[in-house]
Amino acid sequence: NTPLEKEDQEVFNIIENEKLREWSGLELIASENLTSQAVIEANGSPLTNKYSEGLPGARYYGGNEFIDELELLCRKRALAAFNLNPEQWGVNVQPYSGSTANFAALTALIQPQDRLMGLDLPSGGHLTHGYQTNKKKISSSSIYFQSMPYQVDQTTGLIDYQRLEENAALFRPKLLICGASAYPAEWDYARMRKIADQHGAYLMCDMAHISGLIAGEQALSPFDFCDVVTTTTHKTLRGPRAGLIFFRRDKNDDLENRVNMAVFPSCQGGPHNNTIAAIAVALKQAASPEFKAYAKQVRANAKKLGEVLVGHGYKLATGGTVNHLVLWDLKPQKLTGSKVERICDMVHITINKNSIAGDKSAVTPGGVRLGSSALTSRSFKEEDMVKVGDLLHRAVQIALKVQEQCGSKMMKDFVAALDGNQEIAQLKKEV
Ligand code: PLP
Repeated sequence: NTPLEKEDQEVFNIIENEKLREWSGLELIASENLTSQAVIEANGSPLTNKYSEGLPGARYYGGNEFIDELELLCRKRALAAFNLNPEQWGVNVQPYSGSTANFAALTALIQPQDRLMGLDLPSGGHLTHGYQTNKKKISSSSIYFQSMPYQVDQTTGLIDYQRLEENAALFRPKLLICGASAYPAEWDYARMRKIADQHGAYLMCDMAHISGLIAGEQALSPFDFCDVVTTTTHKTLRGPRAGLIFFRRDKNDDLENRVNMAVFPSCQGGPHNNTIAAIAVALKQAASPEFKAYAKQVRANAKKLGEVLVGHGYKLATGGTVNHLVLWDLKPQKLTGSKVERICDMVHITINKNSIAGDKSAVTPGGVRLGSSALTSRSFKEEDMVKVGDLLHRAVQIALKVQEQCGSKMMKDFVAALDGNQEIAQLKKEV
């Protein structure tokens, strides 16, 4: 019996159930991964006990000699994992998450009410890149800054750089953000840099989704072109839930001090040292040859999954993928992403509904997002992804049948009609 099992059976059971769910179902959420036992051990360590506001060598609390050592080690590994020269780049490893890393980066780079441009959420961007709707400013990045999002081309699904350049000429942003949560194509960082330079703007990349692929040399590196690069550490990078902010060292621009001050004291309090230890472990792994092989397999698996779906006659945004994620357009089937997500949930295939270029509403998106990172961590190869693609096809066939039988497009009628469906029970067994 572990101490937790003895002390708190309820929480222990919940954790055991979640472990089973993660390892026995098919986890296809593109923003998730399955970390190593070593990362989990560091994350669950007594380092959670320690307060260490400040930076190594300059803390507001005593007793930080080991925490200083840890934070310096984590920084060193972060730079090494992305092949960065410590004379040209620095990094802050304290952000609690990707969202706080992004808000701290904005706080460091621009002033309140300054103008920024990021990829629109319905185009695959993240909330924290300035998301707002026609009616409402949603994210603090659009509440405290003026945002004019740019979009993907509605037919190709690719970023419309020409239109971005034209709109930037009107809006004159102080900050341009590249990076996305649901974009299966490569970025043209050089073009983004050129547009930023036309307005003397900073260029920031939020590489959260693809940072593992960049560390594994399976995606272009944004570091050659950007001033600041943020990332989460728990997606393709396969670490604990947290964020990092990399900043370019520049004699004429004290980004280091501004980023560090923005993280603490502007946006956060004491660092989560257990998390920083777990990030350090993940970054050591990410610099290994095994991780390069992993990143390569992640891409190969996503590509294969896309091909299988296309083989079944489906449409993918941008026609395929060059990274870990597939954006599956279900509009030609006249299905919403929510319905397919619902059936998949019932059979232990975990996916998420996602908007696709051309969707009328972000609330009822016309597609789903699939990612290969977690299954690749479970050693899935291309031949396994063929089976996964076939199972997904079956789920869609069931959804189509149920939709037709229930004679209504409403979600509540659809859900009611799923009750006792034998095909779903059969599919669940096969998964
Ligand atoms: N940036 C991108 C591109 C993301 O996709 C996400 C989350 O999915 C975040 C930032 C936010 O990260 P977190 O959930 O850790 O705040």
